[in-house]
Amino acid sequence: MSGTIFRSKLLCDNTWLIQGEGCTSYLVVGDERGLVIDTGFSTQNIQQYAQSLTDRPVRWAANTHGHFDHTGGNGWFERAFMSAEAAKIAKTPYPSKRALRYPLDYPVTVVGDGDVIDLGNRPLEVIEIPAHAPSSIAFLDTKGRILFGGDEVARGVMLYWQQPEPQPTVEQHARNMEKLLKRRGEFDFVCSGHGDGLDDAALVEILLEHDRWIMAGNEGTPFALRERDPNEPPPEDLVWYQIEYKRTSTFKGTTIGYDIRYVHDRR
Ligand SMILES: [Zn+2]
Repeated sequence: MSGTIFRSKLLCDNTWLIQGEGCTSYLVVGDERGLVIDTGFSTQNIQQYAQSLTDRPVRWAANTHGHFDHTGGNGWFERAFMSAEAAKIAKTPYPSKRALRYPLDYPVTVVGDGDVIDLGNRPLEVIEIPAHAPSSIAFLDTKGRILFGGDEVARGVMLYWQQPEPQPTVEQHARNMEKLLKRRGEFDFVCSGHGDGLDDAALVEILLEHDRWIMAGNEGTPFALRERDPNEPPPEDLVWYQIEYKRTSTFKGTTIGYDIRYVHDRR
């Protein structure tokens, strides 16, 4: 397609990575239909672009969580699947995007643990894994043997919310990784929310090891604003609260940002 900002690459049979704006999107196609996991926040029509990659109808979207960089393109689809928590915020553009026109009048289907979205001989099972966001779910594609983990199963995981307190705990993230590892026999690859291809499923084990390493008392380096990645959202979209409590931990090729007051669950 000419004039499009979208780029794609085929990851494996009937599975594409789409790079647009905001997050990384994935087109997953079964015998009957295709579905786009996370839709970015480009104002260009990602549904139309995804449809150009396959003959099967691509009318559905699904979101790993409710952050607008993952949900902004939902309105180009007939329906979006997401968690109940995601539904509360998915239609709220980030401050820097409020002046732009997004189609936001789309029906939402709420899904939770154990629900299956069937694309025709290609089921996607929902697994709730809230930490980076209270709304996070993973999609387990047992046919393609891929786990779509959003921002929870990624090389860089950010465990703080856009508020002073409370924050998600490292322990909660660890529990989620343990939950995913119970299904470890059913996937070989991980696709993450801002990734650039198929990552090895061992990433889940490394993240659990990393969580436990922090929980054992190994403290990350103090967070410094100058560490900000130029690809991060503008300051009005990403407000840092109480940075004196924030730490950045690096371990075996993964980075976890967390709040030192929220390593362990508060009981
Ligand atoms: Zn996010």
